[in-house]
Amino acid sequence: MRIFKFGGASIQTIERMKSTGAILKNDPREKMLLVISAMGKTTNALEKVAESFFSGNSKEALSLFNRVKQQHLDTLKYITVLNWQAAENRMKDFFTEVEWLLHDKPVKDYDFYYDQIVCCGELLSTWIMYQYCVEEKLNACWVDVRDIIRTDDNFREAAIDWAYTQQKVETEIKKLFHTYDIVITQGFIGATDENESTTLGREGSDFTAAIFANLLDASSLTIWKDVDAVMNADPRQFKDAIGIPSLSYSEVIEMAYYGAQVIHPKTIKPLQNKNIPLYVKSFLNPQLPGTLISSTLSKKLPPVIVKKENQVLMQFSSKDFSFVEGKPVQQLQEIFKTARLNPNLIQNSAISLLCCFDDRPEKIEQIALEAGIQFNVSLEKNLTLLTIRHYDDDIVKELTENKTIVLLQKTPVTLQALFR
Ligand code: ASP
Ligand code: MG
Repeated sequence: MRIFKFGGASIQTIERMKSTGAILKNDPREKMLLVISAMGKTTNALEKVAESFFSGNSKEALSLFNRVKQQHLDTLKYITVLNWQAAENRMKDFFTEVEWLLHDKPVKDYDFYYDQIVCCGELLSTWIMYQYCVEEKLNACWVDVRDIIRTDDNFREAAIDWAYTQQKVETEIKKLFHTYDIVITQGFIGATDENESTTLGREGSDFTAAIFANLLDASSLTIWKDVDAVMNADPRQFKDAIGIPSLSYSEVIEMAYYGAQVIHPKTIKPLQNKNIPLYVKSFLNPQLPGTLISSTLSKKLPPVIVKKENQVLMQFSSKDFSFVEGKPVQQLQEIFKTARLNPNLIQNSAISLLCCFDDRPEKIEQIALEAGIQFNVSLEKNLTLLTIRHYDDDIVKELTENKTIVLLQKTPVTLQALFR
């Protein structure tokens, strides 16, 4: 059994859906579970719906939602011939779930509403892709993943209940493979024990695919993307970026941790734990080998470069010259957690803590205000955080020339420089 994961870009147009369908048809060797995320930029559009609704603008929310609706209805109509009416009726049930809520007034947390609204993107995209498979006579079925993946109620960043989910996979999913060759389901979403929808964090569909790979003991997971392979740097920032044919789990988890947009950072653990190989391949050029990620240690790697712009350096100093260690550090970490913003780099000194964050203005302000009660807070914006793994003197020189470095950390493998 294999797991395939397709992201929003691979199904954003009817043409793309057809090529994705061709990939499925070309490769009927094993049973397959398909994890799909929302079409194109649907998740962003649904976020706007949630924001309007929560700010009390129900009318705007409904009209924004209408656009999402129309786009999916049009796509479905184009794709289905035989089964169109029944498929559309079912799709309208997904709309009703959201509209029913939009007609109310918000009384709960934003994060709760966010998840109830945004989860619709994956339900719609998978429903359309399923209908396409039916039209193409593929032996497929559709599963609402919220009946399988159980989470806690930490909305927008829900944690998996592995034991419950495992049991559901055993009793519900495995059974389906007696009848069907392909099981199609949603990435990114789950549900609580009270049947409230949850999401696993942005770009979480990779993680969903890894959960299924783990629980089904899959022979491999393939993540289909719009790049030919995992690159050593973002090709939009570095013209000389090159593809890397093979990488170890540990290399990839570090790359993702430092902010490389390879795959969702939580994806690796469930795969590594069962030694399941991960292929990253291009849905535009499926004949290319892509990248294989496995337990085999990477051979000599090129420098792997991650550059994050728009960084803020915050300094928290004690007001009375007491040490910033132990308890004060814990208090700061609580403040970061409440603001849902993790530092990208931390450095301790006797009476202060330096932290580098992505510049999310509201969150930075929240942190500054809360920490300001106990600490003197200063900050500098518009910095760049450069991380280079497997660095050498030449590449460091090339990438930091003429820059003023404000913070530098290095181990034998990884160098991080924060500069103006
Ligand atoms: N659709 C979700 C997002 O855009 C999840 C995903 O794509 O993995 O974040
Ligand atoms: Mg995506």
